[in-house]
Amino acid sequence: MINLILFGKPGAGKGTQAEFIKNTYNLIHISTGDLFRNNIKNKSQLGVLAKSYMDKGDLVPDQVTIDMLKNEVSINRNVNGFIFDGFPRTISQAQALDFFLESIKMEITATISLEAEDSILEKRLIKRGHLSGRTDDQDIDKIRNRFKEYNIKTAPLKQYYSSIDKLHIVNGIGEIHEIRDSLSKLMNQIR
Ligand code: AMP
Repeated sequence: MINLILFGKPGAGKGTQAEFIKNTYNLIHISTGDLFRNNIKNKSQLGVLAKSYMDKGDLVPDQVTIDMLKNEVSINRNVNGFIFDGFPRTISQAQALDFFLESIKMEITATISLEAEDSILEKRLIKRGHLSGRTDDQDIDKIRNRFKEYNIKTAPLKQYYSSIDKLHIVNGIGEIHEIRDSLSKLMNQIR
């Protein structure tokens, strides 16, 4: 089983590259952002709650996010593994994930951090916002707040995973196929 965490600031290319890894290694792709957006579309109670945070570019509270993630893993039995995209985003989410995976005799194989400068990410997000209609991608203040959330709450996870030798950094600047090639090389080492 391969269980990967794809880690990186908004716009780093997590979703795009997760698609490639998922197809190549036949993994289940779980994006907490996509799950929240589906809940918002279906106007579920969870969606209403998540929207109030996402609209400001804030993180959704840990417990809600953790419960949603656990549920999604639990409904996918007998699979080759998972790509967690956009989860964990806080130390307490990471601890909850470790605890949960251990309870079902699974563990994280590796964490891949896709990295790029803020100025590049801002341009990518604004472009994505125009194409997708995502409101949190169209407003520079919301984008910057998401970077701030990342720096304060998510960046400490790099230390968390590097201290257990599970952090791999990949340059997220360049053409999609160039980044995909770097990921392929890394995947060959990890597996
Ligand atoms: P994303 O699609 O990964 O950029 O996520 C979009 C938004 O969903 C984020 O700005 C957060 O508001 C929310 N979100 C996604 N994943 C998480 C998470 N693991 N913890 C808290 N909030 C999250």
